[in-house]
Amino acid sequence: MATPLERRNRAGVSEREARAPRLEPRESVPLAPLSTMGVGGSARFYVEARDEGTVLAAVDWAHEHGLPLRILGGGSNLVVADAGVDALVLRVAIRGVTVQEAGASADLTAAAGEPWDDVVRLAVERGWAGLECLSGIPGLVGATPIQNVGAYGQEVSDTITAVRVLDRTERRIVTLSPDACGFGYRDSAFKSRTPDRHVVLAVTYRLRPGGAPAVRYAELERQLAGRGIQAPTLADVRASVLAVRRAKSMVLDPDDPNRRSCGSFFVNPVVPARDAERIAAVASDPGMPRWPETGGARVKLAAAWLVERAGFARGLADGAAGISTRHTLAIVAREGARAADVVRVARRVRDGVHARFGVRLVPEPVFWGFPGMEGGLPDT
Ligand SMILES: Cc1cc2nc3c(=O)[nH]c(=O)nc-3n(C[C@H](O)[C@H](O)[C@H](O)COP(=O)(O)OP(=O)(O)OC[C@H]3O[C@@H](n4cnc5c(N)ncnc54)[C@H](O)[C@@H]3O)c2cc1C
Repeated sequence: MATPLERRNRAGVSEREARAPRLEPRESVPLAPLSTMGVGGSARFYVEARDEGTVLAAVDWAHEHGLPLRILGGGSNLVVADAGVDALVLRVAIRGVTVQEAGASADLTAAAGEPWDDVVRLAVERGWAGLECLSGIPGLVGATPIQNVGAYGQEVSDTITAVRVLDRTERRIVTLSPDACGFGYRDSAFKSRTPDRHVVLAVTYRLRPGGAPAVRYAELERQLAGRGIQAPTLADVRASVLAVRRAKSMVLDPDDPNRRSCGSFFVNPVVPARDAERIAAVASDPGMPRWPETGGARVKLAAAWLVERAGFARGLADGAAGISTRHTLAIVAREGARAADVVRVARRVRDGVHARFGVRLVPEPVFWGFPGMEGGLPDT
């Protein structure tokens, strides 16, 4: 059955919308406390949406005021410019989880504002397989389809069956199939084909009650073996993933000196197989980590390995920013860091890897408020 908002889509402005309170965004709201990197200036306007009507009202408000609309979740994949963002920033804070069990599957639908790890924990507690390796990833549900969040051999695209969105172009709420989402490695249509078109409102994941956990990474196997676990449960895998992540400062921990980051700053590059050979030769290391893609014509390389071999060590300090002491791919902001410091380190690392291996690393986070971009990084 159509929801009130869907009825409005077909019938124009609904009674509910007519009754909706006028949107009153706050002005000059600092964004650093709302992002894990903790740098950058303010949003010119800011509003939180706890329901879908407010999301629609925000889209309209930005349009009427001739301002860009930026969608904020948990701010864990975001670098905000020091000058701030001349836009309406909309934080999607819609909550709610529903579950439909049918035989061998359980469809878990979570609203965009649900904390991601709460959803993973719920699935694991219920004994539903499919998300356990994605334990401990910061952020909210609504962002998970954007870069097809993944870790330790699982990606959300393995389980997503539907994404409920507000299509800003059509001003309609629609439910997209996985095909329409165009998922790829750390990528989706939301991120690269039609950026800024959709606001994610809810996501449905199809899980497997009683299913076996995924253990596909040697690192995870070793962690489980170290705990003496031969036949892990979902809860065992979740605990091991969290332990492995904690050891790399890849969970949010207010006491961790490496806590201000976006996680991995660069995605693993996928290069033609002959380039992989050349890079291994340049590094004089035939054991270079590499994962051939299906067919073998292209090969995924480890960005962290390239960064290290280009001469950037863990713990590097460059002004108030640098590299995490526990994870080569995490660029961290330290006391007093500004966005410009983070960008400087990112450019230095990217250019260093390019100079050494001829591979241009592509950043994973999004950048707001920077006047110019070059190769995915701010050019100032
Ligand atoms: C310590 C750490 C570890 C991490 N580990 C991983 C990892 O293992 N794997 C991984 O894939 N990522 C990882 N990340 C990156 C990040 O956590 C994920 O990308 C996460 O999904 C971002 O969620 P968020 O809610 O914080 O999004 P935000 O940072 O708020 O936003 C990210 C992007 O998504 C868009 N967006 C957010 N919500 C919506 C919405 N409702 N509708 C439309 N667009 C939206 C934003 O506009 C922006 O473009 C890590 C980050 C940190 C800090």
